[in-house]
Amino acid sequence: MATNDKEFANLELAVVDRPGLEKIVASEDAEKVRAKSVKIVALLVLSAAVAVAFLAAGGYTVYRNLKQTEMARDWIEHSQEVLFNLQTQQLRIERVDFNLQLYATTGDREKLHSALMPSTYLGADMLQLKELVKDNPSQSRHAKDLGEKEQKLADIVTSAAASKTVPDKELLQCRNAINVLQQEEHGLLLQRTNDSKEKSYESFLLSSGFLGISTVIVVVLFLFLFRDAARRRLDETRLSAAKAQLETTVRKLTNRAQESSLLTNARDELQLCMTAKQAHESVVRHMHMLLPGTSGATLVINNSRRMVEIAATWGEATRLVDGFAPDACCGLRAGRARWRQPGKAELNCMHFVGAAPDNYLCVPLAAHGETQGFVFVCSDTPKSLIIAEERTPLIVELAELASLSIASLNLRAKLEGQSIRDGLTGLFNRNFMEIALERELHRAARQGTPVAVMMLDVDHFKLMNDTFGHEAGDIVLREVAECFRRSLREEDIICRYGGEEFVVIMPDANEATAARRAEMIRGAVSEIRTHYRGELLGSITISVGIAMYPDAGRDGGNLIQLADGALYRAKHAGRNQVMLESSNAVGLA
Ligand code: GH3
Ligand code: MG
Ligand code: MG
Repeated sequence: MATNDKEFANLELAVVDRPGLEKIVASEDAEKVRAKSVKIVALLVLSAAVAVAFLAAGGYTVYRNLKQTEMARDWIEHSQEVLFNLQTQQLRIERVDFNLQLYATTGDREKLHSALMPSTYLGADMLQLKELVKDNPSQSRHAKDLGEKEQKLADIVTSAAASKTVPDKELLQCRNAINVLQQEEHGLLLQRTNDSKEKSYESFLLSSGFLGISTVIVVVLFLFLFRDAARRRLDETRLSAAKAQLETTVRKLTNRAQESSLLTNARDELQLCMTAKQAHESVVRHMHMLLPGTSGATLVINNSRRMVEIAATWGEATRLVDGFAPDACCGLRAGRARWRQPGKAELNCMHFVGAAPDNYLCVPLAAHGETQGFVFVCSDTPKSLIIAEERTPLIVELAELASLSIASLNLRAKLEGQSIRDGLTGLFNRNFMEIALERELHRAARQGTPVAVMMLDVDHFKLMNDTFGHEAGDIVLREVAECFRRSLREEDIICRYGGEEFVVIMPDANEATAARRAEMIRGAVSEIRTHYRGELLGSITISVGIAMYPDAGRDGGNLIQLADGALYRAKHAGRNQVMLESSNAVGLA
């Protein structure tokens, strides 16, 4: 029990700390998430910066290479222009040669003119060529040389009208000079074409390289992001699982705390109970709160210990028999809490009206080594069954508390009974009679009502004791007391004054009523037939003396003495009669 209290106290503390607990968990989670987000953002920014830098460098390199390729292409075009110029000049020289040949053969002046025309154009060609190769000193030199030779050729062609000769030597020199220029320009063209190709290839490689590296960076970046997203999802799943677990724990703790406070309340209330009946009512009330949806009862073994009776119930009708032998309950027989459930413990108790329920629990109420009865719990619905199963330890604990409380209340009642009652007859004892008489006289004085005081004595009782024994005498005394109880009203106070003498106080009874009642009692006693060990005891008679308040006396002790005096007179008058203090015998048997 002490352990449980401690446990409950801890649980209550845990419940009190619930918001703090949640706050700690939440702040730890938030801290983790924040740190992770900062890391991811930094990684993203860094990766993006690297990717941009690579792309920028790649773009610049590709741009530069394109420019260089463009320049190379310009140079190629330039060379082609030079070659085209040289080819034109070559054609013109061939035309000069051809027309001069024809003129020399035919003398046709038209042909001379045709030879003169290209030679004049050669000058313009030469000017263009010089302009084209001015950036190349070697080709400029060769162009100058060609120019001189062409000039010489032109001069000869002009003078050829008269001589009709073909300047083969000058023509050859011109052709050679053009050849020199062409060869060098071809060399240049080849070199520039190769340069251009190289630049294009380099540009392709660089763009591919940069593009590849950027792609790798982006892919790595996305891989990181994916990995992080996957981790975050895993974290979230774990977090939600942890939260769900926390909620379950908190719910359990809250339930435990409620159960603990319910038990504390039950204990407090049981301590305040004055009677066993109150204790039973308190127990069923708390059982109903602890086990919603169930029905049940507390049952007690009666004084004879042969019968179990219902003391208090909760919920729906329990289907319990009110009055059965203790052996009918399996829980009582087992001496411990016992669940009857299909498939687990099939054996049914025998204390039901009609068919037994499917699921029920019997918890013996036992304290100080004595079983007082049991608590019966019936769960008819699955929900109430789950609750009852979960809370079985608490039911047992509450039953323990109840049995301790009921045992001590029973003990107190027994002790109290012993202090005011006579052990043999169960009637009030002399002490109580004196107090009660004082009380009744005060009340009668206030209300102005009479009180009759009777003194009753069994006749020749010594003789009965001597004849049949003390035990038989005791039986007779009990029978007589029972006869008094039957013959008098609830409000009359019947006491065993001592030995075989009795006093009856009859509030609000006048002398005539008291005399009539005494006579009736005397008659009833004389009809008692008592057997002892199979033997019929002789007839019993009593003598009665009556004293009246306020006529005879106002003091309790005095009234008793007066009643005793009247009794004495009744004895002397022959016994078995009622004698009034104020007069003679009321009647004779
Ligand atoms: P009388 O008619 O004059 O009253 O005669 P009696 O024999 O009844 O009166 P007496 O006073 O001589 O005897 C009373 C006897 O009652 C004496 C005593 O042994 C007996 N007695 C007193 N108390 C008890 C008791 O508790 N049990 C039994 N069995 N006898 C008792
Ligand atoms: Mg007597
Ligand atoms: Mg006597």
